[in-house]
Amino acid sequence: MTTPPFPPNTILISPRNVAHQLGCQHNDETEIRSDEHSGWGWIPEATAEQWKGVGEDRPLRATHGETSRGATTRCKHCPSGWAPGS
Ligand SMILES: [Zn+2]
Repeated sequence: MTTPPFPPNTILISPRNVAHQLGCQHNDETEIRSDEHSGWGWIPEATAEQWKGVGEDRPLRATHGETSRGATTRCKHCPSGWAPGS
């Protein structure tokens, strides 16, 4: 199963429940889409509020891929200045 390319505002959620932005060195987006990196979930067209709202008490639930994922922390190495929707 191969998924089309992610929209620019996608948030990826790793198997360790860490939220990542596109372009992060930790992501291999091609492999995630081709299902070679199983266990990842994602949210296409995510908002800045969703990104900022990720937290232990408010897991951000994936809507695609592995939808049992709920991000509880944000990656600290993701590209800075990401502003979805702008
Ligand atoms: Zn990252």
